[in-house]
Amino acid sequence: TREIHLASRPVGLPTAANFELITVPVRPLQAGEVLIKNLWMSVDPYMRGRMMDRESYVPPYKLQEALEGGAVGEVVESRSETIKVGDLVLHQLGWREHAVAPAASVQKIDARQAPPQAFLGVLGMTGMTAWAGLTRIAELKAGETVFVSAASGAVGAVAVQIAKQMGARVVASVGSDEKAAWLREIGADAVINYRTAGDLTAALRAAAPEGINVYFENVGGAHLEAALNVMKPFGRVIMCGMIEVYNATEPPKGPSNLAQVIGKRIKLQGMIVSDHFGAYPEFLKQVGGWLAAGKIQTRETVREGLDNAPDAFIGLFRGDNTGKMLVKLA
Ligand code: NDP
Repeated sequence: TREIHLASRPVGLPTAANFELITVPVRPLQAGEVLIKNLWMSVDPYMRGRMMDRESYVPPYKLQEALEGGAVGEVVESRSETIKVGDLVLHQLGWREHAVAPAASVQKIDARQAPPQAFLGVLGMTGMTAWAGLTRIAELKAGETVFVSAASGAVGAVAVQIAKQMGARVVASVGSDEKAAWLREIGADAVINYRTAGDLTAALRAAAPEGINVYFENVGGAHLEAALNVMKPFGRVIMCGMIEVYNATEPPKGPSNLAQVIGKRIKLQGMIVSDHFGAYPEFLKQVGGWLAAGKIQTRETVREGLDNAPDAFIGLFRGDNTGKMLVKLA
C-alpha cells in the first residue's frame, strides 16, 4: 500500500518536494485492530501548522513518517468485536491508502444519512466548526449581521448558510467572481471579491452600512482590520483561522486598529473545534436536518488519487477549491 510522508518541513508555501509517496507493506492486525481501505481523505489548512516543528494544540508531524488527518474508509479486515468488515468509519489516519487502527479510535458513520465524504465536510469537522463558531462562540441572534471570510470554503460556505438559517444578514468575502456568484445562490446578502474590491473597509461598509455584529474570521490581515473598523459596539469575533499568515516567513503585522476593541467593547474569542465535539449529536441533528431539507447546499472540489493529495493541500492556499477540498482514494 502507499502513504505520503513529510520529506522536509516547508518554508513559505509548501511544494511537492516537501512530500514523498512511499510504498509500504500492510502490517498484520493485532487484537482489537481493524484494517481500513481509505475511500476519501481530507486536506485542511491546519495541517500547515503541524508541518512546522513547534508546540501547538496538536503535535507536529514527524519527518519521514506518514502524515495524518481526517479520512473515511471501509473496514476490510477486523480483529474487533465492535467494528465489523464492511463498516464505514471516520478516523484520523488519512494520507494513506490503507490504515491499521485500534477499533476504539474509529467512529462508525451512517452512509444512509449522507455520502461518506460528507463526514469530512458539512457533517464533519468543518461543518462543526461553522456551527460551533456561530452558535457557541458568537451566540448569533436573529436580525444580526455577520461577515464571513473565506466564505466559499468548507467552513465558510456552511457558516454562511447556518447564519441565514439563524435569521442573520450575511456578508461574504471570497477570491473570485465565480465563487461570489455561488455565494449569492446559497443566500449571502452581499458578497465582496477581496481580490478586486480595493479597500476592504470601504467595501465592507458599503455591504453593511449599519455595521456588523459578528465576524467569522478565517483569513486575518486586512480582513480582520476591515471587520474591526465596521464592527458595531458589543460585536463578537470568532477567531477561527488566519490562512493568510500560515505560510508567512516573517512575523505578520498585527491589526493596526486593535484599539477599537476597547471603545467598541468587542469580544474576540479563539476557538478549536475539538473542544465542541461533545455537542456532535446536537450539531448532527440541527445541521443534518437542514442538509436533508435542502436548506444547506454543499460543493466539493475533488482530486483523484493519493499522488494528488499534496497538490490538493497546496491548492487550499491558492483558492483552488470551492466548498470542501477532498482527495478520492478509491
Ligand atoms: P477552505 O475550504 O476555506 O479553503 C481555504 C480557502 O481560503 C481557499 O479556498 C481560499 O479561498 C481562501 N484563502 C487561501 N489563502 C487566502 C489568503 N491569503 N487570503 C484570503 N483567502 C485565502 O478551508 P477550511 O474551510 O478547511 O478552513 C477555513 C479556515 O478555518 C482556515 O483558516 C482554517 O485554518 C480554519 N479552521 C479552523 C478550525 C478551528 O477549530 N479553529 C477548524 C477548521 C478550520 P479564496 O478563493 O476565497 O481566497
